[in-house]
Amino acid sequence: MLQVLRHDDVTQLRAWTRVSRLIDYEVSAYVVRGVLIDTLFPRVRDDLAAWLRAHRLEGVLLTHAHEDHAGNVELLRARGCPVGLADATLARIRVPGPIGMYRRICWGTAPPLAATPTPFAHAALQLRPAPGHTSDHHVVWDEARETLFTGDAFIGVKLRIAHPREDLRAQVRTLRDLVALRPARVFDAHRGPLRDPVALLRAKAEWLEETIGAIEAGADRGWSADQIRNHVLGREDMTGIASAGDYSKRNFVESVLATRAGAAPAST
Ligand SMILES: [Zn+2]
Repeated sequence: MLQVLRHDDVTQLRAWTRVSRLIDYEVSAYVVRGVLIDTLFPRVRDDLAAWLRAHRLEGVLLTHAHEDHAGNVELLRARGCPVGLADATLARIRVPGPIGMYRRICWGTAPPLAATPTPFAHAALQLRPAPGHTSDHHVVWDEARETLFTGDAFIGVKLRIAHPREDLRAQVRTLRDLVALRPARVFDAHRGPLRDPVALLRAKAEWLEETIGAIEAGADRGWSADQIRNHVLGREDMTGIASAGDYSKRNFVESVLATRAGAAPAST
């Protein structure tokens, strides 16, 4: 399903599937200055193709390689649309790794790139490194309009679940960097336009720092990862169970413990 919403100069392409609705999950791409930011997931391909037939784009900017953001890059490339993305993101789209069954069911599997897309950059839209959610993660910053497109850098203040190898400490640094930009408007890929966005970004950074501290305190007491999870974050919820632990509270704890000695894990 694809719903088109207007926010002044920004168009929101909001997408979901019947399965993603069950876990209260949706994804949005945005169009600003004639540029599409992210491409949604493979299962919404036909709806996106219909929208593309009625609209002209200058190019595409991609925040990261996850299939709910980069799932239709091949569709755009085949239409001759240039694509701006980090080298690491391109490498992951070229040779996609295996994804969990819940992601395949929710979003579908992206087709491989048939050729390298024509590079794209826009003078007013900065693709800015914002690692943490993944190591290739970027945001799009429109400085002149004080508008930020966060991809998956926010998602929610108290997001208690993580993919394997997310780097929660890097997320805090990224959030502090985004707060310093003082964006007047923030458009999140899963939450839509944020109200009072700087306060929300700051609140997430603070909650993450407190939670990382609580996890470290548990580790200092000699608790196991499951004990720490149950004490700090609570038991796994529906998403953790439905994803067979791929998007889980346990991963959140593991991320903090894995980066404790200063050795950053390889992000996906
Ligand atoms: Zn993602």
